[in-house]
Amino acid sequence: MSSNIQSPQIPLCIPSIKGREWPYIKECLDTNWVSSAGPFVERFEHEFKDYLGINHSIAVSSGTSALHLALIAAGVEPNDEVIVSDLTFIAPVNAIRYVGAWPILVDACNESWGMNPSVVKTFINGSCETLNGYLHNKKSGRRIGAIIPVHILGHPVDLNPIVEIALDHGLPIIEDATESLGATYKGNKVGTIGQIGCFSFNGNKLLTTGGGGMAVCHDSVLASRIRHLSKQAKKDPVESIHDEIGFNYRLTNIQAAMGCAQLERINELLASKKRIAQHYDLSFKPIPGITPMPRTDWSQSACWMYTVLIDSSVFGMDRHKVMQKLASAGIQTRPLWQPIQFSPAHDRAQFIGGTVSQRLHNNALSLPCSPDISKIEQDRVIEMIKNCTLSS
Ligand SMILES: *Cc1c(COP(=O)(O)O)cnc(C)c1O
Repeated sequence: MSSNIQSPQIPLCIPSIKGREWPYIKECLDTNWVSSAGPFVERFEHEFKDYLGINHSIAVSSGTSALHLALIAAGVEPNDEVIVSDLTFIAPVNAIRYVGAWPILVDACNESWGMNPSVVKTFINGSCETLNGYLHNKKSGRRIGAIIPVHILGHPVDLNPIVEIALDHGLPIIEDATESLGATYKGNKVGTIGQIGCFSFNGNKLLTTGGGGMAVCHDSVLASRIRHLSKQAKKDPVESIHDEIGFNYRLTNIQAAMGCAQLERINELLASKKRIAQHYDLSFKPIPGITPMPRTDWSQSACWMYTVLIDSSVFGMDRHKVMQKLASAGIQTRPLWQPIQFSPAHDRAQFIGGTVSQRLHNNALSLPCSPDISKIEQDRVIEMIKNCTLSS
């Protein structure tokens, strides 16, 4: 053992690196194409857009940078407001602030755990007005610039009602599909339904490149703008002329090489996630107080991060305690993110809705679900959870 980093016996979610990652990365090193120019970047973009069935894809350095560029390309300006999910990893909300805009945080719903479409509708119909052709928040006086539904944990947001009201008011939709690559909403892959879709290839995402992201869209003007901004807005590469302030957000060829190898196994990875979820679902069914993550008849979840709700009054132990018990047995679990409405990082944000994201946060626990987790390991997690209340 050369590493002194302590690993849990059963980690939450670690990558599956079993394909052609080694030969592809070696090819980058052998040919000197190690930076953001090189054949794997284009190949990864090409194969990724083919997988999704969309016209354009732009490989970038992270999911967060994809969201940042998507907001600029969608025309969001300083002091605009952007409607976004309250129960999410913080990245999309931070990206809103990067462009000088402000988040309007929308409560989750019980059905999908994602953005509640009726809260969005009530807000737009009841608390907004159209001035000079643009939708404005009556309370703040600010223009609404976009909507970012976040498809959390692998499950799609109920998009149709949101798309409908967005169309009525000319609002672009930027899908944060970083956690739900491979999921479908009414037969369409998430990330391809709004104007721009954003993906992440961070370490624990379905596909990983170590770090990386992708922005996808149907429209060629949007695509060129995102690509241009990701390369320091370089207009003339010979004379080094830049026509606006851009960003160094390109993915490297080494990362893209890893992405190509990972993408070759996407169906296998999705099948593993599904198999893991089905085994957990069946095993937790007879346990009172444990509710598996949502499934809806209008979607196919990618089951990226398997999560349960623990109703302590029925189960007999709360999620903090369950987490501790499992940790002492070498099993890594994780609660859902603090709802952004309570985040000190965004204490000036307006929140709309009720107490659903708060309740989900209080009760949810994500369980080990690495694509290569064995059935024996999974059964150990299930046994430990069953034993929780017996031994407390
Ligand atoms: C992972 C993630 C991101 C961004 O990913 P990075 O690649 O780490 O920047 C954005 N939004 C959500 C919901 C995520 O889970």
